[in-house]
Amino acid sequence: MNIINEMESNVRSYCRTFTDTFNRAKGSQLFTEKGTEFIDFFSGAGALNYGHNNDFLKQKIIDYVSSDGIIHGLDMFTMAKGEFLQTFSEIILTPRNLNYKVQFCGPTGTNAVEAALKLARKEKNRNNVFAFMGAFHGMSLGSLAATSSISKRNGAGQPLQNVTFMPFPYGFFETFDSIEYIESVLIDDHSGIDKPAAIIVETTQAEGGVVVAPTEWLVRLRELCDRFDILLICDDIQVGCYRTGTFFSFERAAIVPDMVILSKSISGYGLPMSLLLMKPELDIWKPAEHNGTFRGNQLAFVGAKAALEFSKLINIEVELRNKENYIKDFLHMHIAPIDKNIKIRGIGLIWGIDLSKVCVPGLANKLINKCYDLGLIIETSGRNDSVVKILPPLTIEMDLLATGCSIIRKGLLSA
Ligand code: PLP
Repeated sequence: MNIINEMESNVRSYCRTFTDTFNRAKGSQLFTEKGTEFIDFFSGAGALNYGHNNDFLKQKIIDYVSSDGIIHGLDMFTMAKGEFLQTFSEIILTPRNLNYKVQFCGPTGTNAVEAALKLARKEKNRNNVFAFMGAFHGMSLGSLAATSSISKRNGAGQPLQNVTFMPFPYGFFETFDSIEYIESVLIDDHSGIDKPAAIIVETTQAEGGVVVAPTEWLVRLRELCDRFDILLICDDIQVGCYRTGTFFSFERAAIVPDMVILSKSISGYGLPMSLLLMKPELDIWKPAEHNGTFRGNQLAFVGAKAALEFSKLINIEVELRNKENYIKDFLHMHIAPIDKNIKIRGIGLIWGIDLSKVCVPGLANKLINKCYDLGLIIETSGRNDSVVKILPPLTIEMDLLATGCSIIRKGLLSA
């Protein structure tokens, strides 16, 4: 009994701070074992864009399991894999005129980031990579090296190599031409910074505090990569799958990255899956140069195909525009006026309330705890956890969206 208690308290110590035990979830709501209801403004950190237990997706998964479909296919070509690829090509790539090859990676986002970094280094025969200040790309060694958070990097206990951080257009750097700066580093043979194989970017930094890169900046970044023969990798793990209003986050800039990384909501149902899209000429790995036991989760393929069909069925991009307008207006009209130092940032259905300049220590954490008490699950992000990040399922009903927003206001007024 004691061992079980110890195990539970150990596991709880690294679970999120919420004290309850959750046992059910539907749509945009979560329920504790005692039946308490919560609205979800967290979406499993972006893994549940289509909501919890989405009925359309669930039925496809039930049908597949009932038919004794293959569950673990390793690197075999399976029906589920083939059908996902076909649907992905028909619904996503072809209408956007994109020509990418697909590498399935391990179960989580970081696996696909590792694959992208590894492939870029091999292709360009260069070791260095440029990432951005504020970036988050994962917790394994390669992706962590490209993650700028000092506290996260401390987990490795050692300096991490072969990544140089460049300024992202945020805060002080909004008035500083970071593209010109990167260009000057690349031109200067004596800069002491090795030319990178790739530049890895999130078009909106999610964990970095919801920082939306200007569209023009993304266009210039693409041009810079072309000029200096550097691969552009877009990490769309959190802000892909319609989160910013279009399937890929870079569509607003009409650029085509050399590689794109997808995970989280790509499987639709919250199942582990990650993949790397690459321009055909980057398909250079020979068999066995990149593999792994769990890079073919068949249930995830079934969920992923269903999620694409579902999004098309509900015309998700149009749905999103209304919700985006609602949140944007609410935050500007009812949150920003509470304190002149509050900053609001966002796009699509990812929004941040930046409380870093408000003179109340730990305010963002106080606010999320207040929200929790009022029935809303929401998280912080950004430097010193000073930004409250709003990330509801894209399918959230308008009334729940409105209730969640008013909980934030109530929480902020009393925090
Ligand atoms: N990249 C981005 C932009 C992310 O937001 C995350 C996770 O939050 C990752 C990479 C890492 O993904 P995972 O936690 O699935 O390894």
